[in-house]
Amino acid sequence: MRPTAKIIGHGLAVLALTLITQIGGVAWLLALPFRRFWLALTATYALLWLTAFTLAPLTGRVALPCFGDSLRSQSVLYCALNRHYVTPTLLTLTTDLAAHMATTHPGSVTLTLDAGFPFTNLPLLPHLSHDDGEKLDLALYWENQPGRSKSPIGYWGYASGPTNCPTRWADLRWDMALLNAALPNWPLDAPRMKTALTFLANDPRTGKILIEPHIPAALAVAHPKIRFQGCRAARHDDHIHLQL
Ligand SMILES: [Zn+2]
Repeated sequence: MRPTAKIIGHGLAVLALTLITQIGGVAWLLALPFRRFWLALTATYALLWLTAFTLAPLTGRVALPCFGDSLRSQSVLYCALNRHYVTPTLLTLTTDLAAHMATTHPGSVTLTLDAGFPFTNLPLLPHLSHDDGEKLDLALYWENQPGRSKSPIGYWGYASGPTNCPTRWADLRWDMALLNAALPNWPLDAPRMKTALTFLANDPRTGKILIEPHIPAALAVAHPKIRFQGCRAARHDDHIHLQL
């Protein structure tokens, strides 16, 4: 490969890994001098992952639990990619929610999706607002499926319902029709969803909750903090967006 093409290739890899994991780009650069590059990349990434886990609290971010009975990451990917960092207040709010869910509906498992990166206020793409550790996406609760999501990563498995949003030829409201046709047709767990939304809305630490309006409407839950994300943002009937 030509030297310029090689540099561009490395540049793109560093950019992509930085955008996806924050620390991956640095790991790539550190691994470059080694002859066994992929082994070195794995080792430097693991080392930086542990360093981020240890140092993030000094900058006001803590990691959400990756594993656990009543609260855990929906997929280890969110943890492996460093996308599970929040402020200590959001961690305690999430822990309290999970404990409340497990008490009121035994066997409940609260699953976390994308949160934030360990350092800086750079947004965690594609969520432009997930930039300060005060935002977290939670998986929906599905009937008779504790600890499980409709789709492999939690997102894009919709609890479809009526919407007033116009169909545009290009917007962020992806319907993922092919994927959803292949996913199981589970109904939402109405009692659990209602308990979770009510608990979060009534907690003074919660700033707002974004969700597709047909979900709280069907559950007969209304609160000024429960809002519609708007027609220009991605669909929110595959997750709950929680922010302080
Ligand atoms: Zn969100």
